[in-house]
Amino acid sequence: MAEHENLVKSSQIIIKDALDKLGFDEGMYELVKEPMRLLTVRIPVRMDDGTVKTFTGYRAQHNDAVGPTKGGVRFHPDVDEDEVKALSMWMTLKCGIVDLPYGGGKGGIVCDPRQMSIHEVERLSRGYVRAISQIVGPTKDIPAPDVFTNSQIMAWMMDEYSKMDEFNSPGFITGKPIVLGGSQGRDRSTALGVVIAIEEAAKRRGKTIKDSRVVIQGFGNAGSFLAKFLYDAGAKVIAISDAHGALHDPNGLDIDYLLDRRDSFGTVTNLFEDTITNKELFELDCDILVPAAISNQITEDNAYDIKAEIVVEAANGPTTMEATKILTERGILLVPDVLASAGGVTVSYFEWVQNNQGYYWTEEEVNEKLREKLVRAFDNIYSLAQTRNIDMRLAAYIVGIKRTAEAARYRGWA
Ligand code: GLU
Repeated sequence: MAEHENLVKSSQIIIKDALDKLGFDEGMYELVKEPMRLLTVRIPVRMDDGTVKTFTGYRAQHNDAVGPTKGGVRFHPDVDEDEVKALSMWMTLKCGIVDLPYGGGKGGIVCDPRQMSIHEVERLSRGYVRAISQIVGPTKDIPAPDVFTNSQIMAWMMDEYSKMDEFNSPGFITGKPIVLGGSQGRDRSTALGVVIAIEEAAKRRGKTIKDSRVVIQGFGNAGSFLAKFLYDAGAKVIAISDAHGALHDPNGLDIDYLLDRRDSFGTVTNLFEDTITNKELFELDCDILVPAAISNQITEDNAYDIKAEIVVEAANGPTTMEATKILTERGILLVPDVLASAGGVTVSYFEWVQNNQGYYWTEEEVNEKLREKLVRAFDNIYSLAQTRNIDMRLAAYIVGIKRTAEAARYRGWA
């Protein structure tokens, strides 16, 4: 099976189950089982050595029955069509769960920004926007940061779009630097959303963050801010990892020290000799495990070895369908990605609203509105899972797909 094919297939199975439970027919499933649009582009980029290299990029728009599509753009060597498709479907679910007037979208470029100069990354970012310009825009499809993309890349993309549009178009993209119309709190919002999900999950299990031992896989945008929030809240972050390996200290790691030494791609463990593997990281004795890196990390091969009582998915798609079943049967509370990682797109929505109205909020206002949305979403999904005796992922899919399905039915699409 192609690397990311299982992500699409398992999402389709759960979406079908969710639509059945909501009473929608086969026609609705046919409509939402795939993105309604998937654009593949080839982007020629002049490299610093004078040669031209052509990159492949994608933009998937899952469904726009509710409103414009929304979702990040990732720059990664493993990006492929299936991954972008699955990610766009999950964005529809996230937007439904936190009740944003959007459908899901997602983009990606097959590239390794760690091996490119900043000027090459700039030319690639601008080339991508020119290539997808026909199908994106502030009222059509609004991109944002994702794996290995950041506010500087959003600024270049916004600038390129504004030149083509001949208007200053801040609402074209979110996750921008503050001076270009970015929102207070957007950079930390994914992590803050995960913290809120952890707090709610811990409460349900009679625990608090302060007394918990936490393991985090990934030290990128979500993982690093998350480690800092939890560390400051008094939790013991006993292990973190990056693409090279993992660091473990049962007495708790010094997160401030590690943050100081991490590079812009979240790499830090290469500076240490005493590391453990990613496999060992998942088997550590802890209370809360947070996969905050990439997909397909908890599988049927390691699901029985997990010792945590609570697993909160900060990454997209870290747990396979088989592993979800095993963890749930073992009584582990699994908070699914489409709920736990919805903080980023929520504050992206706030950013877009602020751009549209031209009036900006304080970080306190942003965080308060974020908390309100996520706590409500957690409550809805947790109660649904309890009353129907289903896992949290299926409950999240039911809540997530409902609005799109209803909107599509009103429009006469199914
Ligand atoms: N890339 C983020 C996600 O997967 C954020 C998307 C957005 O802000 O639109 O949710």
